[in-house]
Amino acid sequence: MKLDPRIPEGPLESKWERCKSELKLVSPANKRKYKILVVGTGLAGASAAASLAELGFSVECFCFQDSARRAHSIAAQGGINAAKNYQNDGDSVHRLFYDTIKGGDFRSREANVHRLAEISSAIIDQCVAQGVPFAREYSGYLANRSFGGAQVSRTFYARGQTGQQLLLGAYQALSRQVDAGSVILHTRSEMLDLVVVDGEARGIIVRDLIGGKVNAFTGDAVVLATGGYANVFYLSTNAKGCNVTATWRAAKRGALFANPCFTQIHPTCIPVSGDHQSKLTLMSESLRNDGRIWVPKAKGDGRPGKHIPADERDYFLERKYPSFGNLTPRDVASRSVKEVCDEGRGVGKTGQGVYLDFSDSMGRLGKNVIEERYGNLFQMYEKITGENPLETPMRIYPAPHYTMGGAWVDYHLMSNLAGLFVIGEANFSDHGANRLGASALMQGLADGYFILPYTISDYLARTKPGTVTSDHPECKRLEEEAAKRLKKLLSIRGRRTVDDIHRELGTLLWNHCGMSRSEQGLRTALEKIPELRETFWRDVTILGDREELNQALERAGRVADFLEFSELMCRDALERKESCGAHFRVEHQTESGEALRDDRHFKHVSAWEFKGENQTPELHQEPLEFSNVELVQRNYA
Ligand SMILES: Cc1cc2nc3c(=O)[nH]c(=O)nc-3n(C[C@H](O)[C@H](O)[C@H](O)COP(=O)(O)OP(=O)(O)OC[C@H]3O[C@@H](n4cnc5c(N)ncnc54)[C@H](O)[C@@H]3O)c2cc1C
Repeated sequence: MKLDPRIPEGPLESKWERCKSELKLVSPANKRKYKILVVGTGLAGASAAASLAELGFSVECFCFQDSARRAHSIAAQGGINAAKNYQNDGDSVHRLFYDTIKGGDFRSREANVHRLAEISSAIIDQCVAQGVPFAREYSGYLANRSFGGAQVSRTFYARGQTGQQLLLGAYQALSRQVDAGSVILHTRSEMLDLVVVDGEARGIIVRDLIGGKVNAFTGDAVVLATGGYANVFYLSTNAKGCNVTATWRAAKRGALFANPCFTQIHPTCIPVSGDHQSKLTLMSESLRNDGRIWVPKAKGDGRPGKHIPADERDYFLERKYPSFGNLTPRDVASRSVKEVCDEGRGVGKTGQGVYLDFSDSMGRLGKNVIEERYGNLFQMYEKITGENPLETPMRIYPAPHYTMGGAWVDYHLMSNLAGLFVIGEANFSDHGANRLGASALMQGLADGYFILPYTISDYLARTKPGTVTSDHPECKRLEEEAAKRLKKLLSIRGRRTVDDIHRELGTLLWNHCGMSRSEQGLRTALEKIPELRETFWRDVTILGDREELNQALERAGRVADFLEFSELMCRDALERKESCGAHFRVEHQTESGEALRDDRHFKHVSAWEFKGENQTPELHQEPLEFSNVELVQRNYA
């Protein structure tokens, strides 16, 4: 299979303009004849569904939550990047492009990343017009703060609730279309399969989560905006419902899955406190603007943080990376935190933690300023740990957070299956091997508001509407297959809970395919995952019935997919014999312990093709060309 990324010709700066001017359009009178199925109502899905309906297309939109605005995007805290250069501190489209491509360790497409940087400013204008209450300076201008991997302040924010405010904006736009009758919204509806007819995506199989019925929905194009899969690790910062089901099941119908091993571990999360936990909580990266990260210089120093004098503290990020200090990118910061904890200098009961300390900035700026900047995050921290960060340094530790891997898409955001578009965190995205903070919201909204409306129109303009309806034999076949799988899950009635097996999978992945990976560890995981999958299908217990609200059954289906998908993750990690970004292979590191890329052999996107149950997937490679940036060893020192 030859992968064609469909990158437009011409200079980098004019590729998107050129692409837009060459795309075909659907005439206004014909738009309503085309139906687009959008799965997902997070920032990517809601912005896409609203924009497509506004253009005049008929849209049906699906999410598994009870309300579209409960999508996981609502959890995003810190902010959204844009190259507005309001601070006059040297920012530009080129600098945002360069920081993002370097932050991703040169494993993303130049053309896509440049387009993202170009569009970034329009996103802020769009959201302000919707009434999103971004923080403002005294003068009235929108305020900015700094995020990791950049030396300029370009992050727009709404306290620690940026995702919530942006999602309310997108949801508002979506609701307007629902009210106008141009979007039909299906909440509590889970996509279980993709309908492909003659090689083109023509529908989805959906379970109504309240009544349990399984039905096919058909359309002229399908858009997956189904988010990321960090919950494969069981413990992550993602909402509990986040999963890989939609993209994985699309992969089983022929959509390639790209770079599945590129998973981001975020350095500033509340440390794990025991086996009882079912999720982890992020403390936004924005805290690293004013918080200093340190551990005691001496191993096993059990004194409370505030009793350790300044000269006995190791501000290890500032020491190792003086230019970026506490604002080094996430992959670099996470590895450094792990390193000092592995040396026995970690803090807290488990020793798996480092301090994030605001005392210096409170001394400099005043307690009230710090409280005003981060108040809601501090409250959240105190509720969970019982400690007040204004009195005692916070404790943090890395946790799975975001997935750069996802469905392979070309420049048009279309997968290798014609008619299947994938946007937001669900695609393999523009973040290469490591995403910089505040750039996921930017990408999701760029995809939904500004890119997809152009590119999907081009596809539809070449497509006859309404060719497949829900009585098509393929729809019937897939409905039956989905129902059979649910029945099988319910018939096992074994001894282990879904969560118990999921936790075991998560531990296995965290140990062998987490912050650092080795050939031996990955081979162990690849041996154990099929065994665990077999245990699941033999010994899992799911109570209740199929034709009713049954959350255990929903979870079981998602975990069954994680048990298949995780094998691909480990296979991808094993095959990529280099370290890049968040993918750190212990065999490939510099003398100072930094990630060591191998551009000669791995300057490509790895796109995996499913070849059948228990068959080895086939690896396809999309070579990455860099003609505008020099491939340098990342250096934040
Ligand atoms: C705690 C936290 C804080 C973050 N803070 C920031 C930040 O400050 N800045 C930043 O840039 N990024 C941040 N991120 C990352 C960012 O929030 C996400 O990458 C982004 O919101 C993903 O948006 P999305 O629209 O792609 O997916 P989501 O918001 O995850 O939405 C997925 C949608 O798909 C639906 N769905 C999924 N599967 C199915 C299915 N099978 N059937 C039907 N529907 C389905 C869901 O119901 C949901 O509506 C943060 C992430 C976390 C975890």
